[in-house]
Amino acid sequence: MRTTSRRQFLKLLGATGAGLLAGRPCAARGAGTVNNDELGMLYDATRCVGCKACMAACKRVNRDSGGLAYERAPFDQDKLWDAPADLSGNTRTLIKLYKGPQNRWSYIKYSCMHCQEPSCVSVCPVSAMTKDKATGIVDYDKNKCIGCRYCQIACPFSIPRFQWERKAPQIVKCDLCRNTNLRGKGLPACAEVCPTGAITFGRRGDLLRDARGRIEANGGRYVNYVYGEHEVGGTNHLYLAGVPFPRLGLPRLPAEAPAEFSERIQHTIYKGFIAPVALYGMLCIIALRNRKKRESKGIQEEEE
Ligand code: SF4
Ligand code: SF4
Repeated sequence: MRTTSRRQFLKLLGATGAGLLAGRPCAARGAGTVNNDELGMLYDATRCVGCKACMAACKRVNRDSGGLAYERAPFDQDKLWDAPADLSGNTRTLIKLYKGPQNRWSYIKYSCMHCQEPSCVSVCPVSAMTKDKATGIVDYDKNKCIGCRYCQIACPFSIPRFQWERKAPQIVKCDLCRNTNLRGKGLPACAEVCPTGAITFGRRGDLLRDARGRIEANGGRYVNYVYGEHEVGGTNHLYLAGVPFPRLGLPRLPAEAPAEFSERIQHTIYKGFIAPVALYGMLCIIALRNRKKRESKGIQEEEE
């Protein structure tokens, strides 16, 4: 899990640049520390049967009904089948099927990774994206959002989506059912309905132990890696799979969060205010030189 694709590189660059421009450090935690008490989910692709009950439950609790033309499968002549091809302004959880060579296949779930150091929170200029200190849930306040879509650009997993088709669009992404199922039943709707136990909800530390235990007990069934343990500073949505993660659309990413990187650059630049003072000094010198030039030119003109 070392190389970074060109697209991911540009995304990380964008996230870092936007972070520098926003100039607001990610308020989540100290650099390099992971909070394993935060809430998260473990998705075990080897247990998933692709029934999409989680997708349906997610849409039900969030009132993200289907019915948009672009979401319908091409064969849906009677307009009864809702089969989103991607995350969108009304789909925040998606199950897809990977079919590879030698009959290798796997289902895969996409939804917000609830990063330990979320780039979306770091770049949002109006604090519409927030990370809850107690639970670690990355949430969104539609009343603060100005629609700049920095969060979309910065997310290394391309999760937040914008409701382009609506008059008053919002950013859409999973919030672990914070104000719906989690509040009412103590767990997100997808984890509640999964009939095979492919989605486990709990504290990150417990989920990690569970994941490592499954790998140890079932040699050969899993790729020997828990996706999300280290990527971009760690995520609270963790993955187990029997197929290499990049083939399932989960990108190879560095262990350092873009937010941490941009903060380090900011701190280096502004350390002791050396850079701003140097810049100010340079501007003064240029202004003085120009003034002298103008003055000597004026004297010359007077003499002529
Ligand atoms: S689109 Fe909204 S939530 Fe996203 S960065 Fe801009 S203001 Fe923040
Ligand atoms: S996955 Fe993307 S949207 Fe979710 S917390 Fe991380 S950066 Fe934000």
